[in-house]
Amino acid sequence: MDARDPITRTRGVGPVLGGRLAAAGCRRIVDLLAHLPLRYEDRRTVGRLPGADDAAVEPALSGALTVVARLENVKRVFGRRRFSRVEAVACDGAARVGVVWFNRPYLAQQLEEDVPYLLHGPLRRRGGDGPWQLSNPSVERIGEEPDDAPEFEGGGVRPVYGRIGEVPPSRVARLAADAIRDLRDSSGPDWIDEWLPREERTKHQLPRLAEALTEVHSPSSEASIEDLNARRSPAHARLAYGEFLLQQLQLAAARRQRRRSGKPHGYRADGAAWTEATGLLPFRLTGGQERVLGEIADDLGRKEPMLRLVQGDVGSGKTVLAALSCLIAARSDLQSALMAPTELLAEQHFASLERLLGCDMTIALVTSSQRVASDGGAVEERIADGRIDLVVGTHALIEERTRFARLGLAVIDEQHRFGVVQRQSLARKGLRPDLLVMTATPIPRSLALTVYGDLDVSILDEMPPGRRPVETRVTTDDGMEEAVEEVRRRLESGGRAYVVFPLIDGGEGTAAELPSLMESGPKWARALAVPCGVVHGRLRRRERDETMGRFADGSIQVLLATTVIEVGVDVPEATAMVILGAERFGLAQLHQLRGRIGRGTDPALGEPLCIAIAGQPSSEAERRLEVFAASTDGFRIAEEDMRQRGPGEILGTRQAGLPQFRFGDLARDWTWLVAARQDAAELLDRLADPANDALRRQLERRIPGLASSDGERGPRP
Ligand code: ADP
Ligand code: MG
Repeated sequence: MDARDPITRTRGVGPVLGGRLAAAGCRRIVDLLAHLPLRYEDRRTVGRLPGADDAAVEPALSGALTVVARLENVKRVFGRRRFSRVEAVACDGAARVGVVWFNRPYLAQQLEEDVPYLLHGPLRRRGGDGPWQLSNPSVERIGEEPDDAPEFEGGGVRPVYGRIGEVPPSRVARLAADAIRDLRDSSGPDWIDEWLPREERTKHQLPRLAEALTEVHSPSSEASIEDLNARRSPAHARLAYGEFLLQQLQLAAARRQRRRSGKPHGYRADGAAWTEATGLLPFRLTGGQERVLGEIADDLGRKEPMLRLVQGDVGSGKTVLAALSCLIAARSDLQSALMAPTELLAEQHFASLERLLGCDMTIALVTSSQRVASDGGAVEERIADGRIDLVVGTHALIEERTRFARLGLAVIDEQHRFGVVQRQSLARKGLRPDLLVMTATPIPRSLALTVYGDLDVSILDEMPPGRRPVETRVTTDDGMEEAVEEVRRRLESGGRAYVVFPLIDGGEGTAAELPSLMESGPKWARALAVPCGVVHGRLRRRERDETMGRFADGSIQVLLATTVIEVGVDVPEATAMVILGAERFGLAQLHQLRGRIGRGTDPALGEPLCIAIAGQPSSEAERRLEVFAASTDGFRIAEEDMRQRGPGEILGTRQAGLPQFRFGDLARDWTWLVAARQDAAELLDRLADPANDALRRQLERRIPGLASSDGERGPRP
């Protein structure tokens, strides 16, 4: 029996159960073992049931009690509204205590009297000061005869699992325990390939893989229950570190490959060329822009392709830097591509680039619905023969047939809508342009360096002059009327407004209090008494884009929307935003939303204002909203966001394309991630060493073809 065998080789798994497990992604035995227990119960010390007046035991019972007892009077009791419970009396020879189970009616048939059971669960006094009661304990038969009990020596540390698809937790527990035992019996203590090199294991004092998996599923009796439950045991650390190491090796390999490959093109750009290009702009660059542009210029001058992430708030002037870089490419007889997350944004970029640099280079727009060039000429063939300098489009640009004669520079805007995969698909097409990735979702620098391990990071933390910071107010539902007034005032001076709802319709959430677009939207439209448009994620892309377009050109003045506007159109006239159910949004998301307003510089529009209305904020939400109101600095907000929610939340759930970790947690295991990053850089040199065959195989399982594309060695059988 091998850990990579099909799950059906586990004892007790036939075709039916095997099918259910497979449906939940559990095809092999290792897949089952990758489902770690949710928590652990300590049943090592068998206690005694307390007597009726036994107050003294109470402090010791803050956790759960484990007892060996017989059961009497097992019966099903029907309560109100069809709820039933099972009740019994537990008796350990010295005392008798009532037991109650909820939602487990089958126990009434299963439990036998006069045989010993191991019970483990919380012991409480009914109603606070009534008789003792064990509530919902786990129950396990441990012998046949009443006399078996005294010999029983504790129940060890018991893992508690979640369900896998339709397979219930108790079944999962039994399967995992059986699998571990059988693997050990058939293949010895080292029953799964050890791929973590000895050096790293020794350095960090980590257990071997087989040992770690055994320990998490069948903890030894010396285990620390606190460490296990916090997932900080050596076994958990081994799994998390191992996972991080593989990811970091992958990133390090990509970095190395990039450095080795070199780029097929070069730029004719000295300092004077950049100065001349900058001089074409109708404004002076900010200090921050100068610095980042210097970093980009250095990259372009190097032999290896650039791979740079520019982070900066909406409006900080990232796109301008990209445009200058494209111009430098054009002057060096190279083409560039600028990719936006939506067609509408692509159109906007096209329009503003044309305005800015249309006289200095030929620009084309390529989306699924449009193909136009700034000079009105043909598009496809002039991209193919190199006469078009810059192509603006959606990411379809890199996926579709668009053929470039000499693609030197690719710019990706709003990185978080693009996965790492898309980023790399350029390389797979055999193109090795310089890559500039721009994102308006700042993440803390340390985090960026580690998670986007293959990117260099530039930070634009200064706003161009003239942009007025958005005033932010946080209120409760009482502030609704005032919000309407403020918005109307701004609409009257020619502004436009967003009203953001947390839900499309009321049926979605459990919290009935939250305002929804369908219910409250019409009320807002009536109260504001101007033409309003509606956008949300269930509309078709085309319909959504059309409404946003009408908002941009002013034929509607207010957008009633969900967070689909988060990455959206640039409407300089938008000066007001009301965010309803603000307690429901994360800090970064609130900040991202607010970035949609106050983009214009026309003083006639008045002060931009964002009003966040929170119905029933938790204390955590209140803190979040305080920070939101107090700061407009995206990086401050990102740091605070990370402090409040942990890096895992920031990176893991909302943003597509970022690595998802199964064992490791970016917040909890942060130091392991840093260690893995350092180790990976160094381990890469030793990867070809035969001693690391197992590691290389493991890496190839993750990323087929990695080792061969790295030029180290061909794939191995
Ligand atoms: P981002 O891409 O970071 O959202 P943009 O590059 O689109 O920002 O710039 C936002 C707006 O500010 C644009 O209208 C742009 O022309 C203007 N802008 C950019 N840099 C400056 C600057 N240094 N001085 C004045 N205006 C600027
Ligand atoms: Mg931009």
